[in-house]
Amino acid sequence: MGTTARAPSRATPWSTCADRARSEQLDGRPRRRELGADGAGASRGLFDALGVSSAGLLRPESLLVRLLDAETGRRLDVTADLTRFASRTERHEWLDADAIAALEPDLAGRFRRALFFPDEAHLEPRKALAALAAGLEARGVPIRFGVDVKPSEARSDFVVDCRGLAARDELPDLRGVRGEMIVVRTNDVSLSRPVRMLHPRIPLYIVPRGDGIFMIGATMIESEESRAVSLRSAVELMNAAYTLHPSFGEAEIVELGADLRPTFPDNLPCIRRKGRVLHANGLFRHGFLLAPWLARQVADAVLLETRDADIPERRHA
Ligand SMILES: Cc1cc2nc3c(=O)[nH]c(=O)nc-3n(C[C@H](O)[C@H](O)[C@H](O)COP(=O)(O)OP(=O)(O)OC[C@H]3O[C@@H](n4cnc5c(N)ncnc54)[C@H](O)[C@@H]3O)c2cc1C
Repeated sequence: MGTTARAPSRATPWSTCADRARSEQLDGRPRRRELGADGAGASRGLFDALGVSSAGLLRPESLLVRLLDAETGRRLDVTADLTRFASRTERHEWLDADAIAALEPDLAGRFRRALFFPDEAHLEPRKALAALAAGLEARGVPIRFGVDVKPSEARSDFVVDCRGLAARDELPDLRGVRGEMIVVRTNDVSLSRPVRMLHPRIPLYIVPRGDGIFMIGATMIESEESRAVSLRSAVELMNAAYTLHPSFGEAEIVELGADLRPTFPDNLPCIRRKGRVLHANGLFRHGFLLAPWLARQVADAVLLETRDADIPERRHA
């Protein structure tokens, strides 16, 4: 992607690899707190670079509320939970009930406190992928679908292996973490931004996708079972939506989905290099948002190597 190329710096995670001494692999890992803001910024940068409008694809901001326990009706120490969460995050603002109502009128009177994250963003993955693919093709980048590639056999100076969990043949410490989600439709609730919910058991979120569509996700289960959504998970997700706003009780179920997230032992993404193959993987729960960030790390690494003429011989396919 020539349009996104910029001079790579020696300060990229590629060169600050924590595990460098441990193996011959380069292993770039971001600090946990850097991920959110960098990811959103990199996503915006990618859209801009490809001339693709991010309107409707990248929903800015998010709100975090603490749900009551819907099953027991137990009153929880809401502020203590939010305070604990706030102490582990940055760039947030505390909101009181009036401020919550001003931002999200449909949540008026439902929560006394919330955390507002102005720098966060949520991506609409299916539409975004289609738009980005169209942007690449418009710039003459060929994309071939339905081709089963073995990275070590691909002929090129560099090969970027981003096969997700399928790359376990080369990355044996990669594991799958099961996630389930539900998509519903209702015109009885309106939200302008994603709402994250501190839930008694799992952190969940509801993302408004426009036209009355809401995605409610996602469970996080240490299991590699690839079966359909379980009844327990569906109930958890639906309960969370219903607790956020009772009008979700009448929503139509549009889709139930389950998949495995490719995850390294520390739950952080990284790039590893084996010869001319760069493995970019471990995106775990944040692949949609962090893929542009990880791609930039790959591009920086390749540009750095090319600039430093570390490649003894250039081959042309
Ligand atoms: C229910 C659920 C909800 C989620 N919600 C969010 C969210 O809100 N925000 C977020 O950021 N992330 C979310 N995620 C996580 C996100 O889906 C993952 O982090 C992301 O998909 C990982 O991206 P990836 O490209 O590394 O792997 P994948 O998405 O698995 O993509 C790998 C691709 O490689 C292809 N492939 C495999 N083998 C080959 C081969 N030999 N040749 C060619 N191609 C091959 C596969 O077909 C696939 O298309 C969610 C995940 C789940 C399960």
